[in-house]
Amino acid sequence: MTCGFKQFIGAVTMVACSMFVAQAHAEDKVLKVGCEPTFPPFEFLDDNAQPIGYDIDIIKAIGEEEGVKIEIVTMPFDGLIPALITAQLDASISGITITEERAKKVDFTEPYYDSGLSAVVLSENKDKFQKISDLSKSRICSQIGTTGAAHAQKISGNVASFNTNPEAFMELRAKGCDAVLLDKPVNGYFLSKSKVGEYYEIPEILNAEQYGIAVKKGNQQVSQILNSGLEKIRKNGKFDEIYNKWFAAKK
Ligand code: GLN
Repeated sequence: MTCGFKQFIGAVTMVACSMFVAQAHAEDKVLKVGCEPTFPPFEFLDDNAQPIGYDIDIIKAIGEEEGVKIEIVTMPFDGLIPALITAQLDASISGITITEERAKKVDFTEPYYDSGLSAVVLSENKDKFQKISDLSKSRICSQIGTTGAAHAQKISGNVASFNTNPEAFMELRAKGCDAVLLDKPVNGYFLSKSKVGEYYEIPEILNAEQYGIAVKKGNQQVSQILNSGLEKIRKNGKFDEIYNKWFAAKK
């Protein structure tokens, strides 16, 4: 077969076209990212029902750095991992604690936040509950599918689990349970927004936990984008800026 000028031009055009397609593809890439938005200050809804918070800023900054669009999708917390498994989502950022059990079902990025659990009780019961182990005969409220719910099971085995965190706090207020067991920074945010003296946080951190962004198992392309973006925002100061925006005032 001869390779004349026409074929040569054709080949160049094809290469140029496929480069253009690849370029356009990278710019158009949209990552569908799930979260459960009752977990302030990590993810919650503003007055216009738009998700805001630390996690939302982190994932958007990663998207900007990596040139991918981020589409936030909200759903119940216990739906996030199943939605990754069935590929309805590309990733989930929702204060998700990296656990061995979850790591069998999904991949996690490098950790991006150090957390732990704490318990909030009504101030009127402060003397009764000085340590978390004092809750061993108590009914404990938590959110379905969370590490808080799993630990509440170990502490007393008497657990009321709710779809959202505000429901768990409402139940505590209504005295339907003795404590809410939840991630300490989220309890801290709740206390900062509550009437002074109404609630009391038992001064104990139950479990050292780290949050990671969850990705469908084996999806290295998405994991790489997220890890690379995380590394870049750690280096260029954006990560610290976001941390200070949501947490510095409370340090
Ligand atoms: N960090 C906890 C967990 O992963 C709670 C997360 C949440 O309620 N958003 O189970």
